[in-house]
Amino acid sequence: MKNTIDKFNRHIMPTYGRYDVVFEKGDHRTATDEKGKQYIDFGSGIGTNSLGFCNENWVTAVCKQVQTLQHTSNYYYTKVQSDFAEKLSSITGYSKMFFGNSGAEANECAIKLARKYSFDKYGKGRHNIITLTNSFHGRTLCTLSATGQDVFHNYFFPFVEGFINVTPNDIDDLKSKLDDTVCAVMFEYIQGEGGVIPLEQSFVDAIFTLCAEKDILTIADEVQTGVGRTGKFLAGDNYARKANITTLAKGIAGGLPMGVCLADEKCADVLSKGTHGSTFGGNPIICAGGSAVLEYISDPGNQSEVTAKGNYLREKLLSIPEIISVDGMGLMLGATLKTKTAAEVVQTALDNGLLLLTAKEKLRFLPPLTITYEEIDKGIEILKTVL
Ligand SMILES: *Cc1c(COP(=O)(O)O)cnc(C)c1O
Repeated sequence: MKNTIDKFNRHIMPTYGRYDVVFEKGDHRTATDEKGKQYIDFGSGIGTNSLGFCNENWVTAVCKQVQTLQHTSNYYYTKVQSDFAEKLSSITGYSKMFFGNSGAEANECAIKLARKYSFDKYGKGRHNIITLTNSFHGRTLCTLSATGQDVFHNYFFPFVEGFINVTPNDIDDLKSKLDDTVCAVMFEYIQGEGGVIPLEQSFVDAIFTLCAEKDILTIADEVQTGVGRTGKFLAGDNYARKANITTLAKGIAGGLPMGVCLADEKCADVLSKGTHGSTFGGNPIICAGGSAVLEYISDPGNQSEVTAKGNYLREKLLSIPEIISVDGMGLMLGATLKTKTAAEVVQTALDNGLLLLTAKEKLRFLPPLTITYEEIDKGIEILKTVL
């Protein structure tokens, strides 16, 4: 273990605060470190391992694709990409999509698309995009600029122009900033990195109504909330809303890198030949993994189980005296603690064999969608000891 960590620190840029654990393998909802110690997974690699570690159908699909055709570039067609796209389109109702490799890239695509939509129709000057205070949209220069948190706006000047922040749930603030320089409003239905904070229905309704009046596009960043995480395939379904553009990433390919930018009829054909691209985007192996994820989630039984298990986990959490309240939907939950800090709890939980996340001052729970009630119980027992 020491050897690996030393090597890491010698050669890998220190951009992350890492825990002193070296993982060796994973089996569904259990990870094993180099010493053979096991951990229950309540974090799923920040919501990416939606089917847990090494789900059988996912492994079979990915291995089969590795042995058949790993990459072609986007100069050619592959069946596996078209099958995946057709399936995602039928589940979400979006007519077209673009494939990249991460959440940030999916959002970059959405931003470019919105600006071009407006440019094509209205010409220059209508390029501003409203994003929300406390949002998180990624780590590239453009998505950092879109992110509504000052801590991210350091060092890398100059940032990309054209992002204006509105306070979440403040309809008057939104109204006052939706002028004729704005082409899109971009938001997370539930702010994830910002602390698992759902938007109010009335504010979401106001975004959609005001944007529709002014031909301003809505962009839902569902990189964290999408792909069944909140009990519906898209968190927007919980609000009975469908944005013009929705971005997906984290859980979409079960732990393989994929970002998707989905566009509805209004803007599906805006990004024309030569205006956007990605060498790896829609890579056959990733699409094969993604198809296995869609297969699982498109089963209505599995989808409703996410809601049931989320409610179960929420109740268990609320029964712990140290936990004051629990926010979120489905299996995306954030718990506010009475006296302890989330960071110290995550460290102690790790020592006791439970993988957890923080989101600002909250404990964050993003277990694999496949987690069982027994595993939730086991994790809760550890958490109770820790708290
Ligand atoms: C994680 C996240 C991103 C960034 O995704 P990357 O794959 O790290 O680029 C963007 N938006 C939201 C809401 C996220 O949770």
